[in-house]
Amino acid sequence: MANATSTSSDLGREEIRQYLVAPSCDELLARAEGVRRKCVGDTVFIRGLVEFSNWCARNCLYCGLRRDNRALKRYRMSRAEILQAVRALAEKGIHSVVLQSGDDLSYSRETICGLLNDIKRDHPPMAVTLSIGERPMDDYQAFRDAGADRYLLKHETASPELYEKMHPGQSFRQRMEILRRLRELGYQVGVGGMVGLPGQTLNDLASDILFIQEFQPDMAGIGPFLPQADTPLHDQSAGSEALTLRMLALARIVTKNAHLPATTALASLDPVGGLLAGLRAGCNVIMISGTPAMYCIDYKIYDKRARVSLEVARDAISAAGRIMSLERGDSLKK
Ligand code: SF4
Repeated sequence: MANATSTSSDLGREEIRQYLVAPSCDELLARAEGVRRKCVGDTVFIRGLVEFSNWCARNCLYCGLRRDNRALKRYRMSRAEILQAVRALAEKGIHSVVLQSGDDLSYSRETICGLLNDIKRDHPPMAVTLSIGERPMDDYQAFRDAGADRYLLKHETASPELYEKMHPGQSFRQRMEILRRLRELGYQVGVGGMVGLPGQTLNDLASDILFIQEFQPDMAGIGPFLPQADTPLHDQSAGSEALTLRMLALARIVTKNAHLPATTALASLDPVGGLLAGLRAGCNVIMISGTPAMYCIDYKIYDKRARVSLEVARDAISAAGRIMSLERGDSLKK
């Protein structure tokens, strides 16, 4: 392995595997910290997350929003409710919003474009990320034309076999094609995956890092697999926080300057401590909840999900000795 002060970014499969299994992660974290300091600095950007619908047409085995989960109380926020949630974030001075939902095609292309138009009219400095899953290809162009700045479409796992096992009826190839298309359209593109999926191997995790290294996303969200009681994977063990932190550190090293959120999944294991550990592993973004409390409770992608507030984010950032920013935090890769 390279020494702790190296910031060389290209890693091979074997080196990644060694970092994942090494008895101590001190060298890896020190290397990631060096890259983080040099390439993204001390700023931690805040994103406001508005989860506007928990309906989903897909049936991903790990996710509580899956179509076949009849135990979940479903909700869809109206256009007025979404705009109110965005306004509440803007009033806190936050300049970056992530609009997220299951794959819910009941929000038509026109509806999403109308929302984007309204947000850009009412809050011109606000950066808008869409995280609304797989749509007809033409939608991505329309959303971009209507002002969407970023698109988050997690690749979930870079193993095609594991991807298709976890996502019945979905194609890994299609996922990759969409990611390429999003980039062509000029979006700042986010990917991401889970650590500790049942059946996932160290080789699969190494493939995730190699994919991130090759694709060079503008953002990458990596969190532990956390089981949800009403899914087929309800009795599986959660992914390891320690392994997740190693994956984040590796993502920092291979991307250098991508935005890496300390994910809500980490915060769900330990609110301030999980975020702090993520920041120390190379993260530079925290997503806070902008979803109204009455809906947030039903956005059950996994159980015991934390509701990260601006105050919790501020505490973690302060404990890490870093600087909080409510600005847009555009991609550093442009
Ligand atoms: S992971 Fe996304 S696409 Fe899959 S069921 Fe959950 S919300 Fe739907």
